[in-house]
Formats: sequence, structure tokens, C-alpha cells
Amino acid sequence: MSNLTKNQLDSHWMPYSGNREFKRDPRIIASADGCYYKDNHGRKIFDGLSGLWTCGLGHNVESINEAVSNQVRTLDYSPAFQFGHEKSFLLAEKITEFMPSGLNRIFFTGSGSESVDTALKVARAYWRKKGHGTKTKFIGRVKGYHGAGISGFSVGGIPANRTLYGQGLDAYHLPDTQAPGTEFTKGMSEIGSDRANALLDLITLHDASNIAAVIVEPMSGSAGVIVPPQGYLKRLREICDQHNILLIFDEVITAFGRMGANSGAEAFGVTPDIITMAKQVTNGIIPMGAVAFKQEIYDTFMEHGGHDYMLELPHGYTYSAHPIACAAGLASLSELQEQQLPQRIKDMSGYWEEAVHSLRSSSDCITDIRNYGLAAGITLSALNGQPARRPYEVAMDMWAKGFYVRYGGDTIQIAPPFITERSEIDSLINALGESFSTL
Ligand code: PMP
Repeated sequence: MSNLTKNQLDSHWMPYSGNREFKRDPRIIASADGCYYKDNHGRKIFDGLSGLWTCGLGHNVESINEAVSNQVRTLDYSPAFQFGHEKSFLLAEKITEFMPSGLNRIFFTGSGSESVDTALKVARAYWRKKGHGTKTKFIGRVKGYHGAGISGFSVGGIPANRTLYGQGLDAYHLPDTQAPGTEFTKGMSEIGSDRANALLDLITLHDASNIAAVIVEPMSGSAGVIVPPQGYLKRLREICDQHNILLIFDEVITAFGRMGANSGAEAFGVTPDIITMAKQVTNGIIPMGAVAFKQEIYDTFMEHGGHDYMLELPHGYTYSAHPIACAAGLASLSELQEQQLPQRIKDMSGYWEEAVHSLRSSSDCITDIRNYGLAAGITLSALNGQPARRPYEVAMDMWAKGFYVRYGGDTIQIAPPFITERSEIDSLINALGESFSTL
């Protein structure tokens, strides 16, 4: 038990959590260093999901800590509207070094959800500026996750995230990319690229003159690491080009190294028009998101403007380009580059792949294993009709064993920090194997 009183526990309505269950036996994290948390009993716990896909560099990184504490003392806050501070421009340029060439105009937000909102608003506004004001609908994908805002849940495709909330934006969904027969594929499957052609059916139904953008995660994270089949993203790109529809990659999880590349776009060799990002940009230390736009989109907004922002883009957040987040971002992205971590993940991905697929024999309840870069998703069959029961039990058992992993829907998700050693991967996989074998 923790030292917190019942009233303290009850006062905090926890996000995406089973509050009643949690508060009966709270799992309280007290500190973090490198790849490990410590709980309030002093137990060391391996961080098997890098926070929430946020802390690839591990925790308590000296250079980031220093950048943040210096910034706090120098400029703690500054308005981002009509006035600026140097670090936001430096960070914008630094981010472009991680983006595919051409995506060189960076808008700052405070989170992944705000990044998605920004991308979708700009997509609509872009078409209106070009004289195509009817292009307002969006196409997402089944099992996609695009944040917790009204726009994010509308284009998102995880039904449980939507059911309570009623009508969202005018959004339609491509089928997910998990084709039957591809279970236990290592990396990208060879089957299923034709699923991108479902976009043609949606275009026939709604007409391209009404569709602003398609938004997909290059690799779905929250739904359990769903890797695109070979050729799928390329086909989406072709269809979007043919029909004048913007293609948005939501790279809140895949940008900055996780895929063994600077971005998912680079890993999969397809360049979208817009990329949303967050999480790893500051190594999770301070909330921040960003959106990269191709230059032509930015230029379209710059054609009319001058001093009057209403004529350019009336959009932004109080915490856009927050100076402390910018300082953390600069330090964090410099570390990624100096330690060549995207390349390290690429080099390690074969070892990771073999390790995670070795789990298959540990339980008949495992119905699929997927992997890419330093990420993996393991699907477990339902228990008493409840898909989420077994993953939940595994995650709790792993916590008791000293490992934090995430459960979501019918999957267990693992994505350790980029600095993880092979021996730590072995320990994580051994513990998971033991846990699965009791199912
Ligand atoms: N998009 C994707 C792909 C995500 O994975 C997430 C967060 N898991 C979001 C958007 C939302 O980000 P945030 O929680 O920072 O709003």
C-alpha cells in the first residue's frame, strides 16, 4: 500500500486507468534512472515501454536535466504569439534534420493530440486557401490511435475509445492492415498491401472533392504494434497523389528513432505531406508536440498575411514552443544524434526480433507476435469472452516481477529505451515467457 490517504487517491481522476481497481492497491512510481523505475517500496522496475513510448534515452539524462534547469533560470516562459525566443527556431531546424527532405516547416504544440488537431485543421484550411473549401472530410484507419481530442478520436479507429462520446468529425476509416495468415510475421508482411486500395472505395463513396486528408500511423502503436505490409504505405501515397488528398503520418510514436530510423517515413521509404510528433521530441521530460509540414503547404499560407495573422493561420496554443520544452528538445535530439541511437536500434532490431518471437512457444494463448525496430506487440486470446483480461493479468504479473509493460486491448506492448542492453532484453523476454506460461 502507499502512504496516500483515501481522499488523496480519490481526488485524482486518473487518465486511461481503471481508477477503482488501481486505488485498491496503488502501483506508485517514486523515481527513475536509466532504464529503471523505483516504486515506493524501493523495488527496481525495468521500464519496458520507455514510459509511454516517450523516454528512449532512458530517465534522468544529465544533459537534458542541465538544459532544463538552465532554461528555467533564464527564461521560464515567453509568449509564442507575435514574439519569439531563439530556442524555438533552433529546435525547429533541429527537428527538420530528422524529417524527410521537404518537410521543413515546424509548428509547435503541447502534445500529440494537439499535433493531430493542428494537422487536421491545417489540412482543411490549406484546401480552402487553394479554393477547394468542400474538402473537409478525413479518412483514418481501423485500430488507429490519434490522441484523445474530439478530432483524434474521430479519425482514430479503436472502438472502445469512441463509444461513450457520440458524434465526432466527419471521418471514415480504412480497414486495418492485419491480413489473415500474417500472424507471427517478423517485421513487414508480404501480404496485405492491397488493403490500401480500400481508399479507392472511400473516394468513390465520398468523392475526392470532399476529402481533405488521410491520416495513418506508419506503424500503429497503441493498438499493439501493427506493422504495415510491404508496399501498403506507398500505395496510399500513390492514391492520395492521384486524387489530390493530403497524406498525414501520425509519428507521435515512430519519429526519432523507435523504428531504427529518424522517422517512420524514412524507415518505410514513403514521404507524407504532414508529420505529427510528440513524446520522444523532449524524451518525455516536458510535454511538447510538433507538426512538420511540407514547404508548399506553409507557402500557401504565406501568400496572404503580413501583420495580420488572421490572414495566415489563426491557430496556436499558450504552450506552443514553450522555452523549457524547446531546451529539453534541443538537448534530447542532440543526444539521439550524438549517440547515433536510430542506427543502434537498426543494428539491434534483428536481436530484438528473434527474442520477441521466441515467446511464441511459451503459451497457446498467444495468437500473434509483431515487431519492428525496438517495438513489439503480442496478442493474447480472450478469457471468458473478455479480450483485455489476459493482457491485464500479464502486465500485473510482470509488475510483481519487476518489469513495467503496457497492456492495451488484447495486446501486450513492449518498447524498451534505446539504450537498453541485450542482457536486459533477455531478462524482459524471460520474465514475459514465465508470465505467459502460467496463462
Ligand atoms: N498519436 C499517436 C500515434 C499516439 O500514439 C498518441 C499517444 N499515445 C497520440 C497521438 C496522442 O498523444 P498525447 O497523448 O500526447 O496527446
